[in-house]
Amino acid sequence: MDAVEFKSIDQRPTILWIGCSDARVAETNVIPGTEIFVQRNVANQFSASDPNTAACVAFVLNLPSVKEIIVVGHTHCGGVKACFDTAKGDPPGLHPHLLKWLEPLQRLANSLVTPGTPLQTVIKANVVQQMANVRAFLTTLPLEGRQIAVKGAIYDIENERLDYV
Ligand SMILES: [Zn+2]
Repeated sequence: MDAVEFKSIDQRPTILWIGCSDARVAETNVIPGTEIFVQRNVANQFSASDPNTAACVAFVLNLPSVKEIIVVGHTHCGGVKACFDTAKGDPPGLHPHLLKWLEPLQRLANSLVTPGTPLQTVIKANVVQQMANVRAFLTTLPLEGRQIAVKGAIYDIENERLDYV
């Protein structure tokens, strides 16, 4: 190899990170020094019917080093805030692709938001929902006894802290 010298030919990630596209929540900043397989998208969504996110989780079958899948939400998430504001009757006017992408999250927000609900409630519920979605999808995969933990966490941007839910 010419310009780049690789440490290893094989990747051996221990974690599959399902996080938000948000620039402030890059997995290599949050968990530095760890080899991580990554799926990031707006508002850290996972759906078995979305080929992108589902393919990333299915790819773990090819990565025996992966021991856990972690869904990571974060404070001040623009995607969650958009659904939160829409549920409060103040929709931000999103591009049709974003509206489509966020449909499941919008349904979740609509079911939770009352006048006193804080944004953080929806951020946490979103992580919990995506964990459930990942767990359900894992049951459809031929894991052959392999144990993969599914965890959830919220990254606090102000405190630079990762809190497990
Ligand atoms: Zn976000």
